[in-house]
Amino acid sequence: MEQKRPLIIAGPCSAESEEQILVTAKALAATGKVDIFRAGVWKPRTKPNTFEGMGEKALPWLVEARKQTGLPLAIEVANTSHVESAMKYDVDIFWIGARTTSNPFSMQEVAEALRGTEKMVYVKNPMSGDVELWCGGVERLLACGVKNIGLIHRGFSGYGTGDLRNAPMWHLALEMRRRMPELPIICDPSHICGSRAYIKDISQQAADLNYDGFMIESHINPDVALSDAKQQLTPEALASLLDTIKWRAGESASQTFQTMLMSLRDQIDSLDGEILQLLAERMSVAEKIGRIKRDNDVRILQSLRWESIAERTMARSASLGLSIEFLQTLLDAIHVESINHQNKVMKE
Ligand code: PEP
Ligand code: MN
Repeated sequence: MEQKRPLIIAGPCSAESEEQILVTAKALAATGKVDIFRAGVWKPRTKPNTFEGMGEKALPWLVEARKQTGLPLAIEVANTSHVESAMKYDVDIFWIGARTTSNPFSMQEVAEALRGTEKMVYVKNPMSGDVELWCGGVERLLACGVKNIGLIHRGFSGYGTGDLRNAPMWHLALEMRRRMPELPIICDPSHICGSRAYIKDISQQAADLNYDGFMIESHINPDVALSDAKQQLTPEALASLLDTIKWRAGESASQTFQTMLMSLRDQIDSLDGEILQLLAERMSVAEKIGRIKRDNDVRILQSLRWESIAERTMARSASLGLSIEFLQTLLDAIHVESINHQNKVMKE
């Protein structure tokens, strides 16, 4: 489906009161930068005895906000009764939360409740880095005749996220786009970041990765928000943040740019060729080692040797300007391939 780009969905994590909804929606509409107003009505919370949303009673507040601002409404639905209530109030757009996408039973239930709808339905990525599950969510909607589908990337939990609440793992979202290129994909930097401080950087990264827009949480008074207080921005802060985001073009017609780009890409191609050649040579040396180990009845894995290679490599991280994480992944891949080559010759 054609979608305005960048599409900006904004609003509070949760609908808390009629006043909060109306004041926030009007302030967001006044910025002129928001296309859709979001608010969580039923809130999936990690722990019990926390605020779980105002439920159906919040829907008339949202309808009033739509009437006063003209902004279409987006809410999260997680079961049949949510969908039925939302349909009763003619909510314009739905999203499926990360916890729902994670559970095939819930996902199937929501897909069936949405059967045949023409409304836009966004599917958030599941909690874990499982692209199949994300695809599965979309496929369940498609199988129920839901045609207008989009993706929301909100990060993945529990991956040593550092300062962030959920690890972005951008490659998974890019893989999802490769598999389903016809679906718009928008970034939810609020839930990736968990804190206002990082939202600008993550949003800029998403813009540079050609995302189609953002879903960002905005609350009239973030510090007293009943959920996700630390990550919400005031409507004014949101508007200034959006002003700083550069939506760069995919191409440039400039001749100098084209020439420089071509020459740099040639360099990359030839370096890639050399890297592959060196890796192939490394593997053939590993095979020679495999052969002498076989002939001398020595096993393949010698942990101490591998640990010393790993240590030596990691120590060069800073001077090479390569991250520890990257070196770790690269070394692990080389090690596995090397063992496979040695295994092959052991069996000869
Ligand atoms: C939300 O958007 O408020 C929400 C609960 O998101 P997620 O499903 O990404 O945690
Ligand atoms: Mn939230």
